[in-house]
Amino acid sequence: MVDCLFCKMASGQIKPDVVYEDDELLAFRDIHPQAPLHVLVIPKRHISNLNELDDTALGGRLLQTAARLAAELGYAESGYRTVFNCNNDGGQTVFHLHLHVLGGRQMHWPPG
Ligand code: C5P
Repeated sequence: MVDCLFCKMASGQIKPDVVYEDDELLAFRDIHPQAPLHVLVIPKRHISNLNELDDTALGGRLLQTAARLAAELGYAESGYRTVFNCNNDGGQTVFHLHLHVLGGRQMHWPPG
């Protein structure tokens, strides 16, 4: 998709701080971390948000990759939070599907 920031990261045109990459997924550190661990896991192909995700296998791999990265980075036992923000009320600002993985501090409920 033209002018999609995360598509440019997926194609290598813009280089984020990558923690994992395979043929269909990219994971990188958020530029404005909200916790000691703040990684975004994205599909390389453009999907605007969760409303547009029609591939259950891909959704599963996003979640499994988030859990595996949290474990590899040392947050499995202490815990972490995963978040998909969707559209305006969900607080979505980048319209390319991404799964936030946050850890390293106490999370609160309800979220802001
Ligand atoms: O869920 P939402 O769309 O608000 O999240 C977008 C995320 O993308 C933000 O956490 C923001 O800090 C991150 N971001 C980034 N690198 C950029 C632009 C935004 O990591 N260049």
